[in-house]
Amino acid sequence: MSTYITIMHMTSKLAKLGLFDAMVPRYTSYPTAPQFNTGNVGGDVPSWVRSIAPNSTISLYLHVPFCRKLCWFCACRTQGAVTLSPVAEYLDAVHREIALLGAHLPEGVTISHMHWGGGTPTLLTAEMISALVGAIADIAPLAPNAEFSVEVDVKEIGPARIDALAKAGMTRAAIGIQDFDPHIQSTIGRIQSFEITRDTTQMLRDAQIKFLDADLLFGLPHQDETHISASVQKVLTLNPDRVALYGYSHVPWMARRQSMIPSDTLPTPEKRLKLFDAARRLLEWDGLSQIGIDHFAVPDDRLMQAAKTGRLKRNFQGYTDDAAPVLIGLGASAISRFPQGYAQNAPATSDYIKAITAGGFAAQKGHVFSGEDLLRARIIESILCDFSVDIAKVTARFPGTGPRVAELLQDVSARFGDLVNFGPDGLYIRPEARPLARIIAKQFDAYDRSPAGHAAAL
Ligand code: SF4
Repeated sequence: MSTYITIMHMTSKLAKLGLFDAMVPRYTSYPTAPQFNTGNVGGDVPSWVRSIAPNSTISLYLHVPFCRKLCWFCACRTQGAVTLSPVAEYLDAVHREIALLGAHLPEGVTISHMHWGGGTPTLLTAEMISALVGAIADIAPLAPNAEFSVEVDVKEIGPARIDALAKAGMTRAAIGIQDFDPHIQSTIGRIQSFEITRDTTQMLRDAQIKFLDADLLFGLPHQDETHISASVQKVLTLNPDRVALYGYSHVPWMARRQSMIPSDTLPTPEKRLKLFDAARRLLEWDGLSQIGIDHFAVPDDRLMQAAKTGRLKRNFQGYTDDAAPVLIGLGASAISRFPQGYAQNAPATSDYIKAITAGGFAAQKGHVFSGEDLLRARIIESILCDFSVDIAKVTARFPGTGPRVAELLQDVSARFGDLVNFGPDGLYIRPEARPLARIIAKQFDAYDRSPAGHAAAL
């Protein structure tokens, strides 16, 4: 089927289902964060940390909620910082949180995957970076072959910071790009030349920070297939190991900065599908393969290896190959995942600092898993990682649930008809319907029936 016919078929199907303009979670967790409640989860965190197996590995996420300048398109939880003094005050609290975590962590725990995001983690000075890495290593050192990835703003990093990060063991840089077109950049309030991106990439590689991820956005104002193709071609000259191709989500009622972007400059859902497809074809032509709904990687990338061997997982950073059963989130708004449930720190920086300064953990909201949650979470993860649900694999993990899983899959299959195949083995999303994976995943969400605050599905 040609791309054009496929797009027309999918969009007409969605129109019939009343889902054409659907806003759908990205499902980096299930339930999603807006569904967390303010019950007694904060009180559970110390015991959940103490229940981590001694000598096991964990994942760690550090949130740095500061940026020198706030980009209009960005819905991240971050705030402007003209000077470093609020950053230093925040880091004092993070150091206390690390010490508190260390007091509860069992012996011998190491970190298999550490990610610093934000905001702009590269706003931290070299001294701040070294002190943080040292404090973390004191409570849980990086495991052999650990991945340490950092979101890099090429305008807010330089030789001293790169040197500190490289010495700290950083292995992967995730560089935000979005689109290199100057008109699009001025409309979304983020100016970043190709030249500074290329030069920073070279500095990172010279410092032996080996792996490079590039983040692009489709669905931006004024963006057409020429723009996105030109940006992808420039990105490919940087030889990235991974490219994330996210859809821009215009939710000014949630992210007020986005009201600076005129909504009549945004592409329609059909055009968004074409933008994604144009970028996808170029990336694949250059040897990267698609992973899940929005990632592309070179053949020897560890995420690609995980995808090929059925080990791909979903977490708050999107896709991961990390098998650690526990993810600890440090900092304001950071979310931790334990086998027992989720716990999210106070979102406002001031509330986070207050809670930590008072001597306790800063969890404010969360969710305690039920058996049904874990089953639905696995189905949703499977759809977003593999575009299919294998009943035998799900029931191997959740014995006795076969009839329940089949019932859930059958309901969805009846709704989506020829876009999915359903049989005794499970459900399979047809290749041409993969852009609808999040919409299909949402059918398994027992909590989220509201469209507010989510990303555009197409
Ligand atoms: S895109 Fe990056 S630099 Fe811009 S506001 Fe968002 S987190 Fe900050």
